[in-house]
Amino acid sequence: MADRETARVIVVGGGISGLAATHRLVRAGVSVTLLEASDQLGGLGTFFEREGRTVERFYHCVMPSDEHLLPLLDELGLADTVDWAPTRMGMVVEGERYPFNTAFDLLRFTPLTLVQRVRFGVVSLLLRFLGRGRDLDNLRTEDWLRRLYGDVIWERLFSPMFGSKFGAAFGDVPALYLWQRLGREKNVAVRGYPSGGYESIIDALRAAIEAGGGTVRTGVPVAELSAAADGVAVTLASGERLTADWAISTLPLPTLRAVADEALAPALPTVQLAYQGVVNALFFLRRGLDGHYWAPVLHSGTDFDGVIEMSALNGTHDGLHLAYAMHYCDRTSELYRTDPEEIARRWTAQLLATYPDLLTAEDVVDVRVFTAPFVEPVYPLGYAAAKPSAEVPGTRLLLATTAQIYPDVTSWNSSTGLSNRVVDGLLERLGAEAPARV
Ligand SMILES: Cc1cc2nc3c(=O)[nH]c(=O)nc-3n(C[C@H](O)[C@H](O)[C@H](O)COP(=O)(O)OP(=O)(O)OC[C@H]3O[C@@H](n4cnc5c(N)ncnc54)[C@H](O)[C@@H]3O)c2cc1C
Repeated sequence: MADRETARVIVVGGGISGLAATHRLVRAGVSVTLLEASDQLGGLGTFFEREGRTVERFYHCVMPSDEHLLPLLDELGLADTVDWAPTRMGMVVEGERYPFNTAFDLLRFTPLTLVQRVRFGVVSLLLRFLGRGRDLDNLRTEDWLRRLYGDVIWERLFSPMFGSKFGAAFGDVPALYLWQRLGREKNVAVRGYPSGGYESIIDALRAAIEAGGGTVRTGVPVAELSAAADGVAVTLASGERLTADWAISTLPLPTLRAVADEALAPALPTVQLAYQGVVNALFFLRRGLDGHYWAPVLHSGTDFDGVIEMSALNGTHDGLHLAYAMHYCDRTSELYRTDPEEIARRWTAQLLATYPDLLTAEDVVDVRVFTAPFVEPVYPLGYAAAKPSAEVPGTRLLLATTAQIYPDVTSWNSSTGLSNRVVDGLLERLGAEAPARV
């Protein structure tokens, strides 16, 4: 049996999960090859170039509670590059914009009656406490929130907010997800952003992996994966075949199923998990919006259901303000399949209508539309018991994918934590010590 010195490991997927796993294996002295299908590392955290500068396709920020990501940034020498800033939240309901941060904001929030506003405030304050000790994994979010907040607050606020993230099945998602999320996100919260962008994290990980003797290959889609009790074999789209003692797959489960060979497929997790994709437009604006980092957009006749004013966190970009608008949806939905130029046109008009006092058409310098098919797993009730473990029985394939993150929120932090755990389990089998956490 291979030990730490002789084992060869293949990591499939070069998003944060794959990069973090590869980096940790390299630090433990294991021989690793990372295989990434696209020409870029970073997965959902990738970027594009505009006029010589790079910008993230999808908005990302770091939270002070990112207990796994921050130590990784520290190891990479990047912790001090994270600029922290207090951020605030807004809310757009029926085309009207509201600040949504303080008790005073809530008292002036006219989409709810005064009694509803007070109920909203009191229940929200107590929500984490009210969830303690309850079997929230088997309780529908809708049932829990309707009971606590009442029908109107559910229908006017929560239903569109959850529907925007999870689609038609939103009411069925276990209440545990929401409860957990409350621990990560607050309306007024300090958020962070690395001064070199997420690109600087990706570059530093690649450099550290290569400096430690690991191999990183991009532009090499895995076309077939087979795994048995004595090792794994990978066939790339080019026809090249690689073998290893172990593999870690970070692919979304549907993507993994599509590349698993006939022998491996039956051993994969059987849980039928739907995924929400995302349609996301990035606006380059001459003027800023209202300074709210995040604003859900509800009942306002827009295709998007939220706006992230990125520049409220990380400042302007060559003098331009950056704002993202997003809609989470199934990859087979009509919107997802709509021509990006058409989305850019429609969403620009909708953004202008949402901020008519702040923006004119001349202020919109550029719009870029990006989509991703597998972003948020839509968790069924009882998922804590059903979620896949790292091991694929009878094989030397391990899983480190977003389907295992629950009940945590999918993020670079939770993916890093998962990869650390999966790698530590593998190192234990190889008889190696896990690298100390800094
Ligand atoms: C709009 C949006 C906003 C977000 N905001 C935040 C935020 O503020 N903070 C935060 O921490 N997180 C945020 N996230 C979540 C975060 O980006 C994800 O949870 C995280 O990137 C998942 O990482 P991953 O490595 O598991 O998956 P991915 O990033 O999806 O990586 C999977 C990789 O596998 C590759 N791949 C696919 N098929 C193959 C194949 N056949 N062969 C080889 N490689 C393959 C893909 O190209 C990809 O690079 C956001 C995500 C989105 C979409």
